[in-house]
Amino acid sequence: MINYTERIALLMQDVVSRTPALGFIDLREVLVFGRFGRPDAEGAFATCHCLTLPETEPGYYFWKDRETGELTRRSEWFVTKTPEVRVGATRIKYLISFVLPRFCEQTLERSWKSELYGPPLNKAPWVAKLDTIIHELYHIDPAASGLRQFAHADGTRATRTHAPEFYDDVAAMTREYLASGPDPSLYEFLQWDFAALQARFGGVMATTFKNFPSFPQRYMEPCTALPVESPVGVKVEPLKRPLQPALYTEGDLHVRQFTDAAARRVARVPYALQQSA
Ligand SMILES: [Zn+2]
Repeated sequence: MINYTERIALLMQDVVSRTPALGFIDLREVLVFGRFGRPDAEGAFATCHCLTLPETEPGYYFWKDRETGELTRRSEWFVTKTPEVRVGATRIKYLISFVLPRFCEQTLERSWKSELYGPPLNKAPWVAKLDTIIHELYHIDPAASGLRQFAHADGTRATRTHAPEFYDDVAAMTREYLASGPDPSLYEFLQWDFAALQARFGGVMATTFKNFPSFPQRYMEPCTALPVESPVGVKVEPLKRPLQPALYTEGDLHVRQFTDAAARRVARVPYALQQSA
């Protein structure tokens, strides 16, 4: 079987080594994993998840009476936290997820992205997948403060992480990477759709988290140190306790086989540690 996320991670190493604008990325701090998603359903092909966002200030939810505007209920105080992910001694700063098998079906054909590519690349449908991989890497912020932000021309910070130039920059990096003469065996797996991958390799596997379909995500943690007293008549609702661990390690990584319909665990395939870039 092909380990799809491992292939993507290897390709990312080559991309980063050949792309000056991405050269600051230390891929030992980036973990690639798979999420399940059908090709015929709407949704993302891939996502970059930042694990370095700080804990928020304490806050609470509240409910008001629609007519009087008076506070009727509030939640416990809570802070929003990011779980920590460690592989060996290395703290992971970003997760990049690929939605399988949907990502395998991504194509430039009938996609607005094909307009970003001239011939002959606009006739190579699989370039859409390479574009997506580079897109997710480009979200990694050189200032290490979250996801890359774009400044407006007047210097103020853009609120969107996807400014129009983001897509142009990604297409330029994709073109330049392919023009730099990379070893085709590193990216040829992108040329096959899911059915072709299954026929060729007998199955498609990917790294996932033990609590699949969940994965490390921001969560709310009640602040027990803060008082629960409230004005008379305001009910304090307890928060749900977080269901996910605050710390994930390599022991929380499982390899799963993805099919058209599901993902099931593959027994005893150890997670391969990323080689240093
Ligand atoms: Zn994006």
